[in-house]
Amino acid sequence: MSALCHPSSLRGLCTSSSSLAGRSVARKYLSTTAAKRPMMTTTPLSLTGGSWSTSSTSHFLNPYQQQQQRGIRSVGKTQGRVMILGSGWGGFKLLRDMDKNAYQVVAVSPRNHFLFTPLLASTSVGTLEFRCITEPVRGYTRNVEYHQAWCDTVNFEKSKVDCTLNLSTVPATHVTDPVTHTLQQITSNQKNQLSLHYDHLIIAVGSYSNTFNIPGVKEHAFFLKEVSDARKIRSRVLECFERAEMSRSDEERNGLLHFAVVGGGPTGVEFSSELHDFIREDCSRLFPGLMNHVTLAVYDVAPTILASFDKSLSEYCMTKFKRSGIEVRTGTVVERVEDGKLVLKDGKQIPFGCLVWSTGLTENPMTASLENRVLKSKSKRIMTDPYLRVLDNEGKVIPNVYALGDCATIKDHELPQTAQVANQQAIYLRKALNKLAKQPEKSFADVTAPFSFKNLGSMAYIGNWEAVVDMTKINENAKESGTLAWVFWRSSYLTMSVSMRNKMIIPMYWFMTWVFGRDVSSFQEYDRRKRLMNAEREG
Ligand code: FAD
Ligand code: MG
Repeated sequence: MSALCHPSSLRGLCTSSSSLAGRSVARKYLSTTAAKRPMMTTTPLSLTGGSWSTSSTSHFLNPYQQQQQRGIRSVGKTQGRVMILGSGWGGFKLLRDMDKNAYQVVAVSPRNHFLFTPLLASTSVGTLEFRCITEPVRGYTRNVEYHQAWCDTVNFEKSKVDCTLNLSTVPATHVTDPVTHTLQQITSNQKNQLSLHYDHLIIAVGSYSNTFNIPGVKEHAFFLKEVSDARKIRSRVLECFERAEMSRSDEERNGLLHFAVVGGGPTGVEFSSELHDFIREDCSRLFPGLMNHVTLAVYDVAPTILASFDKSLSEYCMTKFKRSGIEVRTGTVVERVEDGKLVLKDGKQIPFGCLVWSTGLTENPMTASLENRVLKSKSKRIMTDPYLRVLDNEGKVIPNVYALGDCATIKDHELPQTAQVANQQAIYLRKALNKLAKQPEKSFADVTAPFSFKNLGSMAYIGNWEAVVDMTKINENAKESGTLAWVFWRSSYLTMSVSMRNKMIIPMYWFMTWVFGRDVSSFQEYDRRKRLMNAEREG
């Protein structure tokens, strides 16, 4: 108990804990809550929280982990540790809104921010800046324990997750021993592996882009899932123009300036539209001599693009694309991708400068690691019951384990993989768990009705200040295309963006793009240190 009195160990635990009174309250809580804690496992492990898997002594723990090992993080949190895997649409919403007085909220995500995906395509060409669409996890984590790590797998029997830190190597491989004040060496394994215990687990790790195992896609195409993807695409597009400017052959120029998008779903369509705007409004001004060489095409195996939308809207989009010069090559099967070349099934070879691949989703390696332990749908998503509780291989509920968002679906009710679903599920789960905290004697199904998804419709930007809005799931006639739909599209996403800060800077960037054009600086790596070292070696 003496560890409890250490001022640093109390910091961040009870807000008033810097005072002596605070410390004694903390002590009192610790001794009384164990008896009150119906949802917490009674083993010392749940008090331990997290520990470096390889370390048996506290010598190799940083102060934060030492604090955890002393068990003080769960003080006053009568309902135990709620571990949330992922900081996306599902995970981030939950970690913000969970009752932090009742639960010790633990977030594990390799990405230290939330990403507002509907506006990601806008950032890939500079209509918006990357910071407009992210929210830092730590911005909301005064009461949340955050680990920047990948969850590798879950041990349901031991209520434990195994993680690998997503941090580049710390320069120092030594830490100061807090007891002897001497430097201790730590191995890279000790630095990177982490094992954490939970009382409730929420899996919201999302999905990966599906390549359908088509050779060369992973190597030569860009995906559009993260800020880093958008940044790479932005650099590549500019690079294509710079290279084409220097090229002496028209053939090479045509190849470099062919922009290919594979997949005609909402993401592929929105990216093509944004890229088209960028080329028409900015590149035409900066590289006027190259405009005759630029081509942009959307490839899809299906006979139409925006196939999930109402037929009239999908036709509207196709006509609009054709009119503005975006080729729509439907019924096209890509056989393989080579460096700078698409090879189609009919043998045609199409040189490209930049290829963006957006043909659908597949499972995350973390959910793949649960094979044969949880029930999976045909599309390899974790299956849950209508209360979002994960089902084991035999279809039985795994206690206190929930899954939501892209990585999960409800048995016999396949849900779309959209932010809308993840968001509604997070709100549902947050309400139910917060209610459960107030009535811990009840079971989860007693405090809430099954989850039901309300489809609020879908929207897509189709370029040149136009969009399509499809709300036919709510009312047969509720659909709109053109500029009015675009106004609706922009105002809805502005309202939905999370923080006041982003609500302010998004319109500011829209305005600046309109007035001054898009920013064409590219933040490519150019390592002066490496150049200097090379020069020294050569000289
Ligand atoms: P995500 O939001 O993908 O979050 C997953 C989280 O888990 C991430 O933080 C990730 O870092 C983390 N993670 C991954 N692996 C691990 C691991 N092993 N351990 C721990 N954490 C892990 N939907 C709409 O409804 N409307 C739209 O307009 C729309 N536009 C989109 C545009 C684009 C470009 C994209 C890519 C998607 C769009 N979507 C849209 C879909 C929507 O973004 C997803 O359906 C939604 O993000 C799913 O939420 P999620 O929480 O399940 O997963
Ligand atoms: Mg999530």
